Amino acid sequence: MSSQRFLVDLLSPEEEEAVRVLQELIITKTDEAKKRAVQVLAKYITVSYYLGAEKAISQLGLPIQPTSISVQGLDAVINELSPVLEETFGFLAKDLTDVIEQGIKNNMSYQQIKQQLQEKLRTFGNRIPFQRAGQYREIVEVSPTGRLRLVRKKIKRNITISTEKYADMLARTAVKKAYALGHIEGYKAGGIRKWRYTAVADERTRPHHLALHGKVFVVGSKEEQLALRVMGEPNCRCRPIPFFDDPRYDTPAEVYEREKQEWANQTYEEWKLDKNIAFIAKANPQSREELFNLASDLESRFRNKNYRILGHILGMKAHQMAEDVIKTLDENFFYSKKQGMFTFVHIYSKHAVKEKFRLSDVLTIRKEGMRIGEAGNALHIIGEFRDGRKMHVVVNKKNFKIITAHIASDRYLKNLLSKVKEVEYDYQAK
Ligand SMILES: [Zn+2]
Repeated sequence: MSSQRFLVDLLSPEEEEAVRVLQELIITKTDEAKKRAVQVLAKYITVSYYLGAEKAISQLGLPIQPTSISVQGLDAVINELSPVLEETFGFLAKDLTDVIEQGIKNNMSYQQIKQQLQEKLRTFGNRIPFQRAGQYREIVEVSPTGRLRLVRKKIKRNITISTEKYADMLARTAVKKAYALGHIEGYKAGGIRKWRYTAVADERTRPHHLALHGKVFVVGSKEEQLALRVMGEPNCRCRPIPFFDDPRYDTPAEVYEREKQEWANQTYEEWKLDKNIAFIAKANPQSREELFNLASDLESRFRNKNYRILGHILGMKAHQMAEDVIKTLDENFFYSKKQGMFTFVHIYSKHAVKEKFRLSDVLTIRKEGMRIGEAGNALHIIGEFRDGRKMHVVVNKKNFKIITAHIASDRYLKNLLSKVKEVEYDYQAK
């Protein structure tokens, strides 16, 4: 297990270098830079491909060398990279992919090249414009049940991407994709004809990636190609694992189903407030009735693709999600006559935007933070963020509804501690 982990970690400095060199290429745009950058990229793509194969082989415990794995699998990366480079470099694209192919065959060295490229850095601008509004691009659409299809989407506006970001995206995507392909090539060598899509539990997991968690693909199928394209989306950390079609070796599907639900629930619990609070705060309801009247407008927000996927996994319809948000706000915040608004509106507009925290953080800290004591009819709770910032949450001590929440300095908290009376308090937050 530890050696496999090592291989995966090893990818990162290589990706970094590929990113750097590609970035320099985009900036300098010279033929020389181009050739060499592609060599480096090709090298890393190849290395990544073999690392993927090696991992697959070690997973399967096969007595073969990763280098005996066919590099044919890399064609897909080259074919996909070609239009992307075309978009950026126009006529250079064919040359670029030719050199990639050569580089893959010859595994060239790249140390001095890197230095030369660095000298030429910042000759050109540091943003790349993409004038593609009105044109179409193909994207893989994932249905709530995990079905895949290719759809054409019209590009709405021209965009400018920072060189750094673009190079990062391009190199990482190519390297990552090569890794996955090498992986699958390794399975093929071991006689495995199917693999399983596994997502990662974390707040950055996109719902349409989560929808594929645990889904099994047949090597060489059209669906597999689409799944690999999803895996090739920027910053995706999903991975293929072998599927043996044998219950003695495969983790039961229920396990993936359970994880999927758990992660979907985490995402939903954060998004339901954080992605809708700006809208609700702007409406600024003046009574509970007005708050409940927002449900129908909210419902249409929950009809978008991401929520449809989350809703499918969690068994919730758009109107149920909308009602749930209203209920959550109503149960945890109250209308403050003094401020002329609900306390979540106050917290959002007066603190959260400026102090950069999320409404879901407030609920978490109220539940898990330290209850330092009471003063008047208020109970004071403090909690700490991972980045070291501290939050002060004030709740009504009878019904536990939130009065306010804000980021507090150590000095503020010290002062607060001297003013509150310590109490035993056993109210359980939901
Ligand atoms: Zn992913």
